[in-house]
Amino acid sequence: MAKRILTGDRPTGPLHLGHYVGSLQNRVRLQNEYDTYVLIADIQALTDNFEHPENLAANVFEVALDYLAVGLDPEKVKIVVQSMVPELSELTTYFMNLVTVATLERNPTVKEEIKQRNFVKGVPVGFWSYPISQAADITIFKADLVPVGEDQLPMIEQAREIVRRFNRLYAKVLVEPKAMLGSVARLPGTDGGAKMSKSLGNCIYLCDPPDMVRKRVMSMFTDPTRIHPTDPGHVEGNPVFTYHDVFNPNKAEVDDLKERYRKGTVGDVEVKQRLYDALVNFLAPIRERRMQYAANPKRVYEIIIEGTRKGRTLAQTTMDEVRTAMKIAYKFE
Ligand code: ATP
Ligand code: MG
Repeated sequence: MAKRILTGDRPTGPLHLGHYVGSLQNRVRLQNEYDTYVLIADIQALTDNFEHPENLAANVFEVALDYLAVGLDPEKVKIVVQSMVPELSELTTYFMNLVTVATLERNPTVKEEIKQRNFVKGVPVGFWSYPISQAADITIFKADLVPVGEDQLPMIEQAREIVRRFNRLYAKVLVEPKAMLGSVARLPGTDGGAKMSKSLGNCIYLCDPPDMVRKRVMSMFTDPTRIHPTDPGHVEGNPVFTYHDVFNPNKAEVDDLKERYRKGTVGDVEVKQRLYDALVNFLAPIRERRMQYAANPKRVYEIIIEGTRKGRTLAQTTMDEVRTAMKIAYKFE
């Protein structure tokens, strides 16, 4: 039987370049080899957006469009909406007994995200425990592989621990998943921050039209120590050059720009202009495919419904095994 992939994204906005290099690229590359499920994690999105549930429906559609735009083939890949598979919530509840509060408190990604978010009334239990629901997402589909960015490694580790615990306690039903990092494990933001992230507003989106890409590139953070174009500049840690390395296929041009930047013989504007050109070329086919699907929303919803139906069938099969293993598959007859 083909090995399986499960991964996903929170419908908190359209997807960006970080998603592409961190995860989407691997999904597209592996979709012919692996039985692939991609989850639009709307329940997880609620954990820090519960005050604005009205945004979810539109964002679910946007994320599905992005999947199709980057080349996920709806004949092969199942796009699944998390809240439409209620078995996920059931499995999450069972998993809650297998994780200690102290373990949740140590999760470095959740700690970092709590710092970034402004939870005025304290951290909601839902946010704090989302690694448990994510473990349910991965394991209900019995995924072998999870293509993710670096920030998700603690979540995969948490899922693996839960699987070991479950299988030891009850019966060997669940599969221990492995993480697979993308070509860039953590793409920095346009603000020079450590991670491009929807919640931080430092993104270039896959659906950005050229004039928006230009605006975002031209206002990018570069080398703060460089005041005049004739000052020698720093290439390392400069997100403009990080993006050049990733998205500009003309390596000779990138090397030449780096050399001149270090010497102080090229201005930020030229370096950014070349980056703009590279990004617009990279995004053109994605935008093109996105517009085709966006013109046919009925087809997109059919794809979502069909993917979710298949995903739910698989989830129900796993849950039968889970309940039997836990000796709670009562028949009462
Ligand atoms: P949010 O700010 O709402 O959490 P996000 O931008 O972090 O949004 P997610 O939906 O949480 O996006 O992440 C989906 C997947 O994309 C995860 O596997 C994550 O690791 C990956 N990813 C997100 N941002 C980046 C990035 N900047 N570099 C590499 N991978 C990324
Ligand atoms: Mg995130």
